Amino acid sequence: MIAEKSLQAPNLQAKNPYELRLDQCRGVSESAVREALRTGDMGFLHSFTTGSAVDGPGVRVVGWTAGCQWRCLYCHNPDTWNMMNGIPVTLERAIEALGKYRHGLKIMNGGFTLSGGEPLMQDRFAVKLLRGAKAMGIHTAIETNGYLGSRLTDDELDAIDLVLLGIKTWGREKHLQLTGKDIANTLEFGRRLAARKQPIWVRFVLVPGLTDDPADVAQIANFAAGLGNVQRVEVLPFHQMGRFKWQRLGLDYTLNDVKTPTQDLIEWACNVFRAEGLQAF
Ligand code: SF4
Repeated sequence: MIAEKSLQAPNLQAKNPYELRLDQCRGVSESAVREALRTGDMGFLHSFTTGSAVDGPGVRVVGWTAGCQWRCLYCHNPDTWNMMNGIPVTLERAIEALGKYRHGLKIMNGGFTLSGGEPLMQDRFAVKLLRGAKAMGIHTAIETNGYLGSRLTDDELDAIDLVLLGIKTWGREKHLQLTGKDIANTLEFGRRLAARKQPIWVRFVLVPGLTDDPADVAQIANFAAGLGNVQRVEVLPFHQMGRFKWQRLGLDYTLNDVKTPTQDLIEWACNVFRAEGLQAF
């Protein structure tokens, strides 16, 4: 049933991850989804995009997975929260799609990034796909909130060259309010990667009035610097490009009046990280 549907699935390619994609898994039974999650032989993808220069080093192909258990107030891809909005794709097809780019990616010092949604919601598929990419000599990265990092063994982490770790804010209560989940697992995953000397790029979304508390940013910077394996910090300015998705999905969007941060605010945040000896952009 799933295999048939995957062959009929629309093209995986999207111009950008802001395309609204819904209900692409219609007709697939719950038991088939559970089996796919257990084996990892099938994944649920929002899309593949190519030519990204902002999702890891060099030029990247990015696989956007469906499914996320967090509910960040500023999420610009809420259509990826529900795994059933993803296209069912066989592992074989995903690796074949990736293989088409392997020579170009090497020439451009790029690689493959698995993002989402939260890719570790589909941890078996993620591991198999990242190992498949590594086997083709492709640099691999995963963009994750770290919440499910304990699902991966050390051996499985070896398939990942770089972790783009999202740190959303600081403090248990604020983190709960912003994301719906505790921050502890994210920090623990960061510490585990540090103990393994596995490179991290920290990604921090700067939202005026929401994540720009100086004490919180300073705590994140202090934590990141203390890990010793953070190669760079990316301060990502909040934007409203995902607002239409919240509206189309009938979700309660609370950031209508929030502006994109000014250049001065972005520079201030970068300087907080730089003051801890980190490279921040
Ligand atoms: S972790 Fe990422 S995908 Fe999940 S809700 Fe937050 S911003 Fe959205």
